Amino acid sequence: MSINIAIAGAGIGGLCSALAFAKQGYTVAVYERNSNLGEVGAGLQLSPNAMHVLSALGVVDKIKAIAFAPQSAVMRHFKSGAEYFSVPLADTCEDQYAAEYLHIHRADLHFILHQACLEFGVNAHLGQGVKGYQQTVQGVSIEFNDGTSQQADILIGADGIRSNVQACMLGEKKPYFTGQVAWRGTVATSDLPKGLIKPNANLWVGPDKHFVSYYLRGGDLVNFVAVQERDDWRNESWNEPGDISQLRQTFSGWHPEVTELLAATQSCFLWALFDRKPLTQWVDKNVALLGDACHPMLPFLAQGAAMAIEDAYTLAACLSINADSQAALLQYQNLRIKRTSDIQIAARANANLYHMSTPVERAKLAVLKGLSKVGLSESLASKKLESIYGHNVVKQLS
Ligand SMILES: Cc1cc2nc3c(=O)[nH]c(=O)nc-3n(C[C@H](O)[C@H](O)[C@H](O)COP(=O)(O)OP(=O)(O)OC[C@H]3O[C@@H](n4cnc5c(N)ncnc54)[C@H](O)[C@@H]3O)c2cc1C
Repeated sequence: MSINIAIAGAGIGGLCSALAFAKQGYTVAVYERNSNLGEVGAGLQLSPNAMHVLSALGVVDKIKAIAFAPQSAVMRHFKSGAEYFSVPLADTCEDQYAAEYLHIHRADLHFILHQACLEFGVNAHLGQGVKGYQQTVQGVSIEFNDGTSQQADILIGADGIRSNVQACMLGEKKPYFTGQVAWRGTVATSDLPKGLIKPNANLWVGPDKHFVSYYLRGGDLVNFVAVQERDDWRNESWNEPGDISQLRQTFSGWHPEVTELLAATQSCFLWALFDRKPLTQWVDKNVALLGDACHPMLPFLAQGAAMAIEDAYTLAACLSINADSQAALLQYQNLRIKRTSDIQIAARANANLYHMSTPVERAKLAVLKGLSKVGLSESLASKKLESIYGHNVVKQLS
C-alpha cells in the first residue's frame, strides 16, 4: 500500500523533501500558505554537502547550467582589503569532496525543484496554510487555516522558522530577534565597473557589520548581503524594501569594492535576523519537522538551505529502509539533530568574528592576517569547513 505524505511548506526544504519522497514512489502532497510559488530575488551558496543530494535527486545538470562556480572563498578587512584567508573552491571542492561549490539565484533553484516535483507527480496545493494537526489511529489529520482538514499517513513540517507544525508539536515558542539585520540586493554586472567584483565568495568583515558579494547566473548578476547589528528593525519579510541611501551611508568608508557596488545598486530589501536555540525533539509519532522549522540558522556559514536539503534526503531514505514509519522518523531525527545543532551554534559564533565583537575575536583576526601573509591561514580555514562540506548523506545512507 502506498504511503501518503503531506508536506507543510513549499520552500527549498519542502520541495526537496517532496522530490525525494516522490522519487521513492510515495504519494506526496505539498500545502503552501502563499497563493504563488516562488522564492525571492536573492542568491544562495550551495556547498558540496548540499550538491551531493541535489545530484542524487537528478537536478544537478539544470543547476550547473544556470549557476556560477566561484574560484575561492575570501575574507578581507572592511577598509584595507587585507586578506585573512582565501580558501580555493573551484577545482578543489571537486577533488576533495567530489562535488562542486556553486552560487545560484534562489528563484532558479526553486523553479528547478518545482519542475522536478511536477514530473514526479507531486500535488501542490497553493494558498492552503497548515494550522496544526492531530494524531489519529490511521496516521495524522492535518488542519488548515480555512477550517478544512485532510488525512495523511505522515506530515512533514517544512513551514519555516515560524512553523505552525512545530508550535502544535512542542507548544508555541517564538523565535528571538538577534539584534542583526540583513540588507539584500542584486545588481546587473553590466551596471558595474568592469572587473570590480572578483569571481569569489567575497566576505568583508568590520566592526558591527559584514558584507558578502558573489556572482549569480553565469556571472550576469551580482548578489550582496550586508549584515548590520541594529536593534530598531524587526520585520522578517523578504519583500520589505530597504532604504538604499541608508545602506550606502551604513557602509560608507568601506573598501571601494563594497561602496562602488552599493553606488550602482538601485534597490534593496531589509530583513531582520531571528534565531532559535537548537531543539531536542523534531518528531511526534507520524509527524516530523524539517529545515528552518526545526533548525533555523543565521546565514553566517551559508548552511540553512544546505541543512534542509540534507534533511530531505535523509528523511526519505530512512522511510525507504524502515518498515515502521514512526521508527523511520525517529531514525531521521537521531541522524540529523547533532549535526544541525552544531552548525546552528557555529553559525551564530561566526557573527562575533565577522563583527570584531570582542578582544578575543580581534586577536583571532590578527592571527589569521599574520598567517595569511605566510600562506598558512588557508589550511586553517579549510580545516574548519571540512566537517561541513565533507559530509555526504547520500553515501551515509546508501
Ligand atoms: C540573508 C540570508 C542568506 C542566506 N544564505 C544562505 C546560503 O547562502 N546558503 C544556505 O544554505 N542557506 C542560506 N540561508 C538560509 C536559507 O535561506 C534557509 O535556511 C532556507 O531557505 C530554509 O528553507 P525552508 O524550506 O526550511 O524554510 P523557508 O524557506 O522559510 O520555507 C518555508 C515555506 O513554508 C511556507 N509556510 C510557512 N508557514 C506555513 C504554513 N503554516 N502552512 C503552509 N505553508 C507555510 C512559507 O510560505 C515558505 O514557502 C540564508 C538565509 C538568510 C536570511
